[in-house]
Order: sequence, then C-alpha cells, then structure tokens
Amino acid sequence: MAEFDTVIGLECHVQLKTESKLFSPAPNRFGDAPNANVDVVDAGLPGVLPVLNEKAVQFAIQLGLALGCKINLKNVFARKHYFYPDLPKGYQISQFELPICEGGSVEIQTSQGRKKINLTRIHMEEDAGKSMHEAGAPYSQVDYNRAGTPLLEVVTEPEIQNAEEAMAFFKSLRATVMYLGICDGNMEEGSMRADANVSVKPVGQTELGQRTEIKNLNSTRFLGQAIDFERKRHIRMVKAGEEIKMQTRLFDPDKKETRSMREKEEAHDYRYFPDPDLPPLVIEAETLDRLKCNLPELPFAKLDRYQTDLGLSEYDAGLLCEEQQVAAYFEKALLTQPNAKAVANWVLNSLLAALNENGLSPEQIFQCPLKPERIGQLVSMLEQKIITSKIAKQLFEEMWQNPNAEPEQIVEDKGWKVERDEGALLKIITDLVANHPKEVQQYLGGKQKVLGFFMGQVMKQTKGQAEPKETTELLKKHLETLRE
Ligand code: ADP
Ligand code: MG
Repeated sequence: MAEFDTVIGLECHVQLKTESKLFSPAPNRFGDAPNANVDVVDAGLPGVLPVLNEKAVQFAIQLGLALGCKINLKNVFARKHYFYPDLPKGYQISQFELPICEGGSVEIQTSQGRKKINLTRIHMEEDAGKSMHEAGAPYSQVDYNRAGTPLLEVVTEPEIQNAEEAMAFFKSLRATVMYLGICDGNMEEGSMRADANVSVKPVGQTELGQRTEIKNLNSTRFLGQAIDFERKRHIRMVKAGEEIKMQTRLFDPDKKETRSMREKEEAHDYRYFPDPDLPPLVIEAETLDRLKCNLPELPFAKLDRYQTDLGLSEYDAGLLCEEQQVAAYFEKALLTQPNAKAVANWVLNSLLAALNENGLSPEQIFQCPLKPERIGQLVSMLEQKIITSKIAKQLFEEMWQNPNAEPEQIVEDKGWKVERDEGALLKIITDLVANHPKEVQQYLGGKQKVLGFFMGQVMKQTKGQAEPKETTELLKKHLETLRE
C-alpha cells in the first residue's frame, strides 16, 4: 500500500457550553425528558424570530483567537436547506460565505513529533433534533431538545496524512476547547463529533483523489478505525480499476467498517442564502482585544512550560496537561510546596488512582476530598523528613478519609513521626542483633542481603517510622562492631 498517499480533511463539530440555545432562550441541556427544552423558535413555528446568543459568538471568537484564525468582523448567517424530520424549519441556520473565523491551525503531537494542521474555517451553526427509532416499532419519534443547540464547525484543509494524525487533531482540539471552557468535551453525550473526508492518490500525484465522507464519528478511536478502513477500501478499489463515487458513509463500530448512506449532495443542492431574519453580525474591535487579553494558557504552551520551567519529563507533563482540571489542581498544590517533581508524582500516581477507585474521572479532581494544599503539605513533610515515604502513603489514605484534619495533627496523633531518637533505635537494633546470631554470622560472612531482613524487622518494630538511610547506617555500624 506504500504507493498511495492518504489525504484526510476533518469537519469537527463542537457543542458549545452556553446556558441557552443559539437563537432561542430554551435551555441548552443534555439528558432532560424528550422535548422538554423546545422553544417556539426551535420548533420552527411561523412568524417567530431568532435572536442570536451573544455568549456563543464570544466562544467562537475565543476558539478562533486560540487557534490563530483571522476573525471576520462582519458575519453572515445563511439558511442551509434540507428535508429531514429532525429539522422542523426545513433549513438549518449556518454560515456560508462569511464565517466567523478563517485560517489558523491546530498543533498536534504524534510519534513523528509536532506539527500544525491548517484550518480552512470555523463557522457557527445550530444543531438539529434527534430521531429515535425504537426497535420493531412501526414509527419513529423525534426529540427536539438538541434542535438549536449552538455548534462550531471546525474545518481543516485536506492535509492530514493518516489516522494517527487525525486522532491527534481531535485530541488537541478537545483539549483546547476544554481549556477555554467553551465545551464540556463529553464524547458519550456527543459534545464533539467529527466527519472524516478521506481520499487516496498515487504517491507523487498533486491532484487529490475522489473523497468519501464518513459522518458523525463520536470517539477518537472510532475516528481512527473508520479512516483506516476507508483508505484501504479506496486503495483496493483504485487497484481494481473501480470508480470511487462522492458518498456519505456511516461507520459501524461493531464490524469496524463503513457503509454507504447516500450519494453526497453538492453545496448548491442546499440552496444556501443569507437568512433574512438575521441581520449581519458586526463584531467590535474592542471585543476582540478584550477576549484576546483574557485567553488562558493553552495546552501546548503549558506542556512546554512544565518541561522547561518546572523540569518535568515530557511524559509527566503530558499526563498533567491532558485534563485542564488536573493541571489546575497541580498548580494549586505547587503554591504550598514548590517541588514540582514530587508534587507531580503524588498527583499522577496516588491521587489519580484514588479518583479512579472512587468512581471519579480526572476532570472531577476538585470534587475529591483532598484539597490541593493537602498534597503540598504531605510532600513538605516528606521533604523535611518528618515522615517516611511508607508513612506518607498511610497519611494519604488517612487524609482522604479525614479531609478536615490537619496532616501535622494526624501524624502527631498516630505517632507517625520519624524515629529520630538514636538511642531508642540503637536499643531496637542491639536487641534484634542479639536475638539473631545466625543472621549476624551470615552477614559477617558476606551475605549483604541479610541487611534487608534486619531493616524489615526494625521497620516492623517502629511501625515504619525509622528513617531508612540513617537506620541502614546505624545497623551496618553496629554489625561491624561484632566482627572479631
Ligand atoms: P462539504 O462541506 O461539502 O463537506 P468542503 O469542500 O467544505 O465540503 O470540504 C469538507 C472537508 O473535506 C474539508 O475538511 C476538506 O479539507 C476535505 N476535503 C476536500 N477534498 C478532499 C479530498 N479530495 N480528500 C480528502 N479530504 C478532502
Ligand atoms: Mg461535510
């Protein structure tokens, strides 16, 4: 298959986290009873007028600024006509000629390193409702709760080269919209969906091959699988001398294959024209400046900073930056204890594992009983050698159960402080050695491993509170005195 190049262009739909819909005051909320959130505008009743949601426009501008797009100060909304039961008006309000953003790019990271994928445009549009087909029923039902939900459609240039890049693109876009706080990134609820346009061409040919479009991929994994299936299908067809037709296809996740849904329409079939109900939207330059000043630090910038300024490994930095909330938690913990490497370890290992065990996702990190300061305090006590790393694990558990107790107090109450009393420690060691003459002889005979046995015994008797390095030294010194 090496003699063919794959060319992919993505159209990603991002559902915006606004309170109300794009053109109506109905709640923009997932999971309510069917048709509970439907306004007269969403239902397409005659004689009602759409009113543009300012927040959705702001979100669109924020994404455009984050991705380095040109923001069009004059925007036009257009009607895109098609007939389908989930579209009550008979047209979808979208943008055609003057979309809110043009150009820009999304940075991606793959096994081949980092690169930028150029964007064609980002436009605003409303979502349609949802058709429900009950198995065996002689009818279908429609839920219009989603009708009118604000979407951004992010369209790439046809320059993505393989499934890995496409998945990296989707992941990077998801991280960006979540960092901006404009989309909840919830894939199960369909908050992000991608249409993948796939074509192949012989290596060296500049002209693009005929594409097919796979609709509505709602997970990164499905996106990759669908692309891989489709490119292989194209190559097989080209080799067999068959003609590839412009088609819209659906992906079946169970069979991991795509199948034809319909022969694709051309843009003129949609009879686009400017919506006479909506005057052109004019964006003030000051609005742009204000939003630009308030952009948060974006995923790749944070990733770089964690490595260069905080000295974290690329792997650890990547894990921390994956979820904006995890990064925010980590940064808060750093305010209490600046040892980034140690704080990162506790967050990435103990804390993420504890979240998982308690049925919380990484995004819900701030909902767990442990406040970030507690992680900082724990690391500080370790740094100051007040506790051993073994005790630190117990302290972590205890703090989780007892989030209001001060860690210092817990350590005090439990008698968990490192044994600093050399006299007491020496007494334990002396007794231990006296009671194990056989092991002493083995050690003196050169069996270093016996030291581990003695250390284990000391730790048992001190309930893990003996400082390991000091104890080892003390133990060795004492054993040497027994040499004849
Ligand atoms: P439509 O809106 O009808 O789906 P567009 O021309 O806007 O069509 O293109 C949609 C997407 O298809 C873009 O992401 C674009 O990069 C991609 N695309 C266009 N031509 C090809 C091709 N030959 N192979 C792969 N992707 C393509
Ligand atoms: Mg399309």
